[in-house]
Amino acid sequence: MLIEAGARIKSKIRDSDTVARLGGDEFTVILPGLVDTSDIGHIAQGIIDLLSEPYFLNDRESYVSASIGIALYPDDATGSMELIRHADQAMYTAKNEGRGCFRYFIKTMQAAAKKKMQLASDLRHALAAGQFEVCYQPIIELDTGHIHKAEALLRWEHPDQGLISPVEFVPIAEDTGTIHDIGDWVFLQAAQQVKKLISSYGPGFQISVNKSPVQFIADDRGHNHWVETLEQMELPGQCIAVEITEGLLINNDAKVNKNLLTFRDAGIQVSIDDFGTGYSSLAYLKKFDIDYLKIDQSFVANLTEEAPEFALCEAIIVMAHKLGLKVIAEGVETTRQRDLLQQMGCDYGQGYLFSRPLPSSAFEQLLASRAIGATDTGSLARN
Ligand code: C2E
Ligand code: CA
Ligand code: CA
Repeated sequence: MLIEAGARIKSKIRDSDTVARLGGDEFTVILPGLVDTSDIGHIAQGIIDLLSEPYFLNDRESYVSASIGIALYPDDATGSMELIRHADQAMYTAKNEGRGCFRYFIKTMQAAAKKKMQLASDLRHALAAGQFEVCYQPIIELDTGHIHKAEALLRWEHPDQGLISPVEFVPIAEDTGTIHDIGDWVFLQAAQQVKKLISSYGPGFQISVNKSPVQFIADDRGHNHWVETLEQMELPGQCIAVEITEGLLINNDAKVNKNLLTFRDAGIQVSIDDFGTGYSSLAYLKKFDIDYLKIDQSFVANLTEEAPEFALCEAIIVMAHKLGLKVIAEGVETTRQRDLLQQMGCDYGQGYLFSRPLPSSAFEQLLASRAIGATDTGSLARN
């Protein structure tokens, strides 16, 4: 395939140009002396189109896609190494923006790449330096208003830059492998927190922990590590739920399968996060013994009686219930959204309407104030 791809790239450029494979599946093309730089876009698109045509290898048809990063000399770099590096950064941008496209290097990419490298190195020390905190966002049972679930959400207080969103640093932690230690630490915090809550409110309390595909797949220690932690703490599996995304189940990876079974055997429940944004395939929901669907925030944000999201939410809820799953709506910000979801039969709601993610002590206070308000304190944690 590499030989064929190289030949296809060559067919799209002049004899005086250069094609080189620098490593893996990455090629470099040098186009010297271009009079009109607007040609570059056409050439790049031509290469992308040709590379995405089918390949016939060993009587089998295969497909690949290509992403291209473009850097210009002398505008973007003063030397060849810098030129290649900047083309590389532009290529990563192309990959991140959906693949199968080309992107020009722009100065801001360099700044972004620098910032990312700095954050990656800061992340290595963040855990030991005590810069992380786990916040808890309550998940409300819509019919009763009771709280017996919460989601653990990680916060990073950077010494110079202040609070950095997990949306920004989790992908970097995944790329650099620090996510494993950080993820285990989050799990331990959540387990300690739920132990405390169970002693106050009874055994029905559950905290969910996010686990990204990177953690799942590359985890050689297996989930037994988490399961063992629970055993050592004498906690029942049901007090923890693991939130995963749909993409993890699609590839039908044997390791993923085994890990999910280990969870099930330990009584740990599994939620599908951001449901509706990915493949939304029904087949795997039953196959993998999933317990909860979390309707993605984007559906809830646009929820009105007239919007297409209405039918989508309703369909997800009906389908989930038929399959024996419970539904949690994310990003509930208004009473109207809550009311509509409740009418549809949605089981749980989570969002700013009820509470933002809170530090441990504030979260405990919230639960305590609710428990005092209720006629039966035990009801707070009843399943
Ligand atoms: P997520 O798992 O989908 O988490 C829900 C996100 O929605 C959280 O953002 C939460 O603060 C936010 N949110 C909750 N209610 C509302 C609302 O009413 N409106 C709006 N607009 N947003 C709401 P956060 O805490 O910034 O986390 C972002 C993402 O980072 C999470 O998305 C999750 O994918 C990831 N993440 C957070 N903590 C961890 C962790 O410990 N491990 C891993 N692997 N990923 C984590
Ligand atoms: Ca989540
Ligand atoms: Ca989510």
